[in-house]
Order: sequence, then C-alpha cells, then structure tokens
Amino acid sequence: MTTIQSPQAGQCRGLADYHVHTIASVDGRVAAADYIEPAVGLGLTEIGFADHVDLDPRDPGCGYFDYARYRREVAAAEAVAAGRLTIRTAFEITYQSSREEEIRRFLTGKEVDYCLGSAHLIEDTGGWCNVSEPETPVVYYAARDKRTVYSQYWAEIRAAIASGLFDLLAHLDLVKRYAIRAYGPFRPDEFADEIRDVLWLAIDKGVGLEINASGWRQPPEEPYPALTILRWYREMGGEILTLGSDVHWLPHLCYGLPEAAALAREVGFKAVARFAQRRLVGWLDLPG
Ligand SMILES: [Zn+2]
Ligand SMILES: [Zn+2]
Repeated sequence: MTTIQSPQAGQCRGLADYHVHTIASVDGRVAAADYIEPAVGLGLTEIGFADHVDLDPRDPGCGYFDYARYRREVAAAEAVAAGRLTIRTAFEITYQSSREEEIRRFLTGKEVDYCLGSAHLIEDTGGWCNVSEPETPVVYYAARDKRTVYSQYWAEIRAAIASGLFDLLAHLDLVKRYAIRAYGPFRPDEFADEIRDVLWLAIDKGVGLEINASGWRQPPEEPYPALTILRWYREMGGEILTLGSDVHWLPHLCYGLPEAAALAREVGFKAVARFAQRRLVGWLDLPG
C-alpha cells in the first residue's frame, strides 16, 4: 500500500489545490466554507472549488448540480477566507462526445475561473460503464479486451480536448482505476501512440493537465496521470499543469499535493498554472 499521509500544518505552503469538491457535488461532504481554515493552516495559496456537473441520466449525479447553490457556497467561503487565500471557481464536467451541445448549453451564462474536462463514462453499442466507480466496469470490461477499453477512453479524451470546452483535463488516465483489476497493470508504453496523440492535441489547443493525487489512495496507488505520461507531456513541450487532491471530505484536503509538486519538479516543471475567468493568468512557482 501507498505510504502517503495527509499533509500537516504548513506542508502545502505556496501550493494550489485546484480539484476540491464541496457539498455542491453529489458526492461532496464538506461545505466550501469549512475548507478554508484547514486550507489556510496547510499553507495553501489558492483553492479551486471544482464541483461535478453530470448531464447523463445514467450518472447518479445527473441533475444534482445547482449553480445558484454553488455560488452561495463560494460566497460563504470567500467571507471566511477574507483574502487569506485566493479562491477559484470551477466545474468538473463529465465529457461525452454525444453530449457536447448539452455541455455548451450548460456553460452558457455561467462564470467560473476554469473548466475541468473528465471522461468518466465510456460506451459502445453493446453497453456503457463509469470508469471511476467499481461496479459497472466489471461486466463491461469482462466483455471487451484491454485495447478496446483503453482505446475507447483515449478517443473520448481526444474528443474532449478537440471540443474546446475545457481549460484542463482532469485525471488524464483515470480509466486505469479499475481496468487494472480486469487487465493487469497499466503500462503507458502499450498505448504510446494514442497517448502521445492526446498530448500533442492538448499542447496544440492549449489545454492543460492536472496531477490528480487521488490515484495514490485508490487501486492504482499512483497519481493520474502516470509519471511516464507526465514526462512525455513535458518532453513534448507541455507547460500547463495544475495540482489537485480531488478531495470529497476534509481528511483528503491537499492529500498528495506535496508529493505531486515534487513529481512535477522532477520532470522539469518550475511552476503551475493559475486560472481566472477561463484564462491562464499566471504561474505559481513550485516550492523547493
Ligand atoms: Zn472525476
Ligand atoms: Zn473530481
């Protein structure tokens, strides 16, 4: 098992956690305002509330997100923060190539600092599954080989980038979360062409990646994306990177963030990107 512990006071000084879920997410358990004192104690410079937006009726979170309620959550957090850290607003939208127009309609008239694109659902004429939860993939993966499943996933990621809907891609290789149970360890080299194609497109379109630390506390026991993919992204000229804990309850706030920052430095990143009003507005130097 992974040995990463939740960080202690001061251990996230100068960092930004750009993937934080509040009770405005169907699976979030913490009011936005309740994150603030712990975040200040950890030393965070920025916190990004990126709540789930799910538009597919098969998704248990479908219809849950309420934009007005989300804005109230953020306003309450801002009152507590009183300028002690910067609060960013965001959506984590489940992308499906079949629902691009719905996503576009959802975004109309709503303001956030950045949009995370996630491929949580994959499907074909024979069925569908949610790659981020344990149940539906069991049957789906059993009926398909490894290459089919991974290729469906990369195709969806590619379409998400091409859609122009997103500033950042969340947990780039999330499919490995439960696919490793069906097919064995995830090795990026086996999908090098498809993954590199995805990375080229992301770089070309100016869509960034996050290091999502939740993988360390999940079956892969490594971040999303894998270190190899992060290294490829950097070698290919990728620059836009953020860090996120994907926290849904307080003990996971900033979980893995210091380790993610160290990985970013290891592969050559000097800073992470800062977003405001759907634009990259600057950089936050990685400590160390
Ligand atoms: Zn997600
Ligand atoms: Zn998330």
